[in-house]
Amino acid sequence: MKAHDGMYIGGEWRAAAGTDTIAVVNPADEQVIAHVPAGVAEDVDAAVFAAHEAFPAWAATPPAERAARIAALRDVLVARKDEIAETVTAELGAPLQFSQMVHAGVPILVAGSYAELAASYAFEEKVGNSTVYAEPVGVVGAITPWNYPLHQIVAKVAPALAAGCTVVLKPAEDTPLTAQLFAEAVHEAGIPAGVFNLVTGLGPVAGQALAEHPGVDLVSFTGSTAVGKQIGATAGAAVKRVALELGGKSANVILPSADLAKAVGVGIANVMGNSGQTCSAWTRMLVHTSQYDEAVALAAEAAAKYGDRIGPLVNAKQHTRVRGYIEKGVAEGARLVVGGPEAPCEQGYFVSPTVFADVTPEMTIAQEEIFGPVVSIIRYEDEGDALRIANGTVYGLAGAVWAADDAEAVAFARRMDTGQVDINGGRFNPLAPFGGYKQSGVGRELGAHGLSEYLQTKSLQF
Ligand code: NAD
Repeated sequence: MKAHDGMYIGGEWRAAAGTDTIAVVNPADEQVIAHVPAGVAEDVDAAVFAAHEAFPAWAATPPAERAARIAALRDVLVARKDEIAETVTAELGAPLQFSQMVHAGVPILVAGSYAELAASYAFEEKVGNSTVYAEPVGVVGAITPWNYPLHQIVAKVAPALAAGCTVVLKPAEDTPLTAQLFAEAVHEAGIPAGVFNLVTGLGPVAGQALAEHPGVDLVSFTGSTAVGKQIGATAGAAVKRVALELGGKSANVILPSADLAKAVGVGIANVMGNSGQTCSAWTRMLVHTSQYDEAVALAAEAAAKYGDRIGPLVNAKQHTRVRGYIEKGVAEGARLVVGGPEAPCEQGYFVSPTVFADVTPEMTIAQEEIFGPVVSIIRYEDEGDALRIANGTVYGLAGAVWAADDAEAVAFARRMDTGQVDINGGRFNPLAPFGGYKQSGVGRELGAHGLSEYLQTKSLQF
């Protein structure tokens, strides 16, 4: 595949400071498809410098003009969506149709939403005898994961640019080609030099250098809770703004009055999409004891249908990790009803869609984020029990509630310690704030709430 051998800094592709590279592997066949430069602290320095230089002019650019540039970026993403989908499929492994619809499609929606928000947001308001201004925070260090490679980038860069911030992006090492395509799109859209900069590289080298850089005013990180804690501590020590979108272990709560077949079917589809590599996936299915056996049978049937229709996991490490969790589930006494730890293909990092029944809330597979196509079905006795189980992990990112009517589901959802809940299969809304309670994170992405993360307030009194 086509790859740049430099970094996108100050509006051009520049030679990397070092000579090390990162091999990009296609997880479906384990073949190396490209190499990208492994950035070091000097690359990060150069990118932060470029972002710093570009900041005053971009911050002073009228919001309508910033909106026009973001709209142009959205248009380039539309024009290049097939290439984006093919690139995501090559480096992440997602089936092409899923890449087209979700990996290429959602970022177009999100970029479009920020083109509109940049033009309409109230960057100035009157409060009594004061005028309050929402001003851009400054240079943003954005660190993104591989699971939704373009969405994670756009969900940070689009609101940052709408706010008037400039950005240095360090994308995940598994999916740098999508990030390079995004940098090309930024260039084509006529976004001024230095407003967006890209440094590819390893997390503990380039990522850490970016998170620790004194020239970065806000660190926006999406990834694992372990790395998020480290980044939060570094930012806290420097009194620096930080946004953290971390892991999840979300509950799909099926109340007894719900349409059981629909709730189970949608729940299984929610986990199997992207091979279970979705931080907000509803990996715990909570079912009333009276419907338990029926739910298990429905889930087994739904998961078995996925068979070989799901893509591989992203890399060898995740492949080993997810199969290890499946083995742990068996060892701790959960009942395997579909799937298992055996690799279904000789080549590629595939894992079979897997469903466990008789999972108890304290089991490892019910507590830790697996990040693979694995669903745990947990029994509850009454609503209080369901709520205790739903809230009984360190995470609180997302969830679902199903009931005969929305009001019953809403009453339950309001008691869940989680940032986003889908009621009776509610649709994705690119304007709804997304982010976690508890150890799932700090801050929100998407919509106006996502934009406000990149703003700070100044009040003038008259
Ligand atoms: P990860 O934390 O290992 O890596 C995420 C990013 O951080 C990568 O770009 C990586 O290079 C970088 N990084 C790694 N170590 C670093 C360090 N010491 N300093 C600075 N940067 C560093 O996570 P991952 O394996 O890429 O992604 C999977 C995890 O991300 C899962 O736990 C998942 O739940 C979480 N996730 C959360 C959300 C969300 O919105 N809440 C979205 C997607 C993924």
